[in-house]
Amino acid sequence: MPLPVVQYGEPVLRKKGARIESVTPEVTRLIADMFETMRLERGVGLAAQQVGHALQLTVIDVRGVKDRPSQLWISGQPADAEAFMPLVLINPQVTPAGPPVKGPEGCLSFPEIYADIERPGEVDVTAWNDRGEPFTFRAGGLLARAVQHEVDHLNGILFIDRMDSTTRRELKPEIEALQAATRAAKASR
Ligand code: ZN
Repeated sequence: MPLPVVQYGEPVLRKKGARIESVTPEVTRLIADMFETMRLERGVGLAAQQVGHALQLTVIDVRGVKDRPSQLWISGQPADAEAFMPLVLINPQVTPAGPPVKGPEGCLSFPEIYADIERPGEVDVTAWNDRGEPFTFRAGGLLARAVQHEVDHLNGILFIDRMDSTTRRELKPEIEALQAATRAAKASR
């Protein structure tokens, strides 16, 4: 069942996600609903906070993006990033593994707001999969960017926090308008 995606101004987006201690049937159902929601909204990633749950859980699928390549290494060997999708990350830990690069980002919780964000170009990731089994990989390109954007969400960090000050200043009116609209919609419910 697709879930409503919360927008900037909803307090849950600023909450650090609780660690998931076991993959219960409720977690499994939430993962399925998050995939359905992400595909409907045409996103490459979705964090639990974006559907109202402050949990260490995100789903990612970069297969739809053809113009921005992803790289993957497993146990130090290059691997097929597309075949690695879709990806469920539970309790993920991310470590930078390359120099910072700038690239375009958007966010389903910030409709029509886009900006170039600087992040490490490669990252090492440790997480649990959807069966609660630990796994590790190194990501580059779009996959590295998507992982970092989503793992930020799990810690209450948003891409506007990563914008440089000029971009942030330029986008301030749109960001504030979105926040006000979200709060007004909430107040009228
Ligand atoms: Zn986002």
